[in-house]
Amino acid sequence: MSHSFIMPKQVVSGVNALEDGKELIRSLGHKALVVTDEFMIKFGNLKLVEDALKSIGTDYAVFAGITGEPTDKMIEAGFETYTSEKCDFLIALGGGSPIDSMKAIGAIAGNGGKITDYLGKVIDKPCPNMVAIPTTAGTGSEATQFTIITDTERNIKMLLKGAVLMPTLALIDPRFTMTAPPKITAATGLDALCHAAEAYTSRKNQPLSDIFALSAVERIFKYLPIAYKDGNNVEAREQMSLAALEAGIAFNNSSVTIIHGMSRPIGALFHVAHGISNAMLIKECFSYVLDGAYDRFGALGRKIGVATKEDSDEKAAKAFLDAAIGLVKTCEIPSLEEYGIPKAEFEKVIDKMSEDAVFSGSPANTMKEIKLEDVKKIYHSLY
Ligand SMILES: [Zn+2]
Repeated sequence: MSHSFIMPKQVVSGVNALEDGKELIRSLGHKALVVTDEFMIKFGNLKLVEDALKSIGTDYAVFAGITGEPTDKMIEAGFETYTSEKCDFLIALGGGSPIDSMKAIGAIAGNGGKITDYLGKVIDKPCPNMVAIPTTAGTGSEATQFTIITDTERNIKMLLKGAVLMPTLALIDPRFTMTAPPKITAATGLDALCHAAEAYTSRKNQPLSDIFALSAVERIFKYLPIAYKDGNNVEAREQMSLAALEAGIAFNNSSVTIIHGMSRPIGALFHVAHGISNAMLIKECFSYVLDGAYDRFGALGRKIGVATKEDSDEKAAKAFLDAAIGLVKTCEIPSLEEYGIPKAEFEKVIDKMSEDAVFSGSPANTMKEIKLEDVKKIYHSLY
């Protein structure tokens, strides 16, 4: 059996990545559309990118209309700016939302039509060059061929894909993540944990992505608690940026599984941020599927040092699960109830959420066989 593996064409990571990598941007086009949000303007991050573009003499326009997790409407507005400003390549500055938006705008620029046309299809025509500059350590979107866009008419989060959506250049400068508040640090860091742990325990796991997944899980357990408690700890921020990149590379090539599959419908219907809804699912989802892959979960337990070689796979797997539940607690993630979602309202839509989850295809990548009924059971167990 063979595997294929893709990554961004170029990655510049570490302190000063923007300074050191900016020359690479010059060759990518004549005029960039910088896709970002209001926070990046407020925190001064956009100014750093604008200064870098000015210093290399690259013309640009700014679209700061990403006001939350991206919707089809935001993508339309962004594409309009891209066209009216006569841009020929894209730069995203922000968390997963601006990066996903950049990919969707690029998809339309290269493939035509509306973004909602691409649900269930592979986006395959070349897109403009894309530069991803993440400002959170978590989504890994800088290293994936996926974009998640909400279809506001059908009220679903569409998972869209295509190798052409892979950014040309990922500029990972931990300086940008220093401005992320603790809640964002926790949510995005646990999102990265899900990416890595799901990729490692996916049916589509493969030797190359395993290396990235294991390394990411180890870094996250070591550095997320530090980055959460002390956002000014440069080493923890740098390590988390690397972990998020590794986790992104891992799930891009091995897929996510049940947590992500079940998380998207919660996000779409109850507007829970992606990382939070994932974290809310870690305990129940991984408990449910643990016995389908004791060896794989066990290897994660040994990697983070909560189990030894002498322990059985089952024992090591359970130790990993406990550690993951502990990390969710350390990061003070609320339950659905604490988040303010009434049980009755949640239960009313379990059937729809379960169908949407299974339809996304992600739960089927779990090693344990997962049917519609299993997904329903897990949703019910969240209260
Ligand atoms: Zn995710």
